[in-house]
Amino acid sequence: MPRNGLLIEYDYCTGCHACEVACKQEHNFSDGMCGIRVDELVTVSPDKVHVDFIPITTRFCDLCADRTESGEPPACVKHCQAICMTYGPVTDLAKAMEDKPRSLIFAPR
Ligand code: SF4
Ligand code: SF4
Repeated sequence: MPRNGLLIEYDYCTGCHACEVACKQEHNFSDGMCGIRVDELVTVSPDKVHVDFIPITTRFCDLCADRTESGEPPACVKHCQAICMTYGPVTDLAKAMEDKPRSLIFAPR
């Protein structure tokens, strides 16, 4: 059975936090618990300030097992309006990542 994960192209992440909200609602997480969190990475060059939004899965991410077992996409993937999240086999995600320089793969177990 292939190992699945999430590929997140944070280059296109708008920092909207919809993935966080969708995850919390899907799992009915209490305050302080979340399956994904969007962090901000600020870097400064001589003439510009850069802000990257970096979504990071937590230990509570179960890759939406209930949804994916029935063929539904994970809640975060479904609600990401920037369409910068992909769910699938890690080997496929790694291949896709070759063309996506600012991206991350998470494959929690
Ligand atoms: S895959 Fe499911 S559990 Fe994991 S971060 Fe996305 S919504 Fe949360
Ligand atoms: S829903 Fe998509 S665009 Fe919005 S913060 Fe999450 S990963 Fe970024």
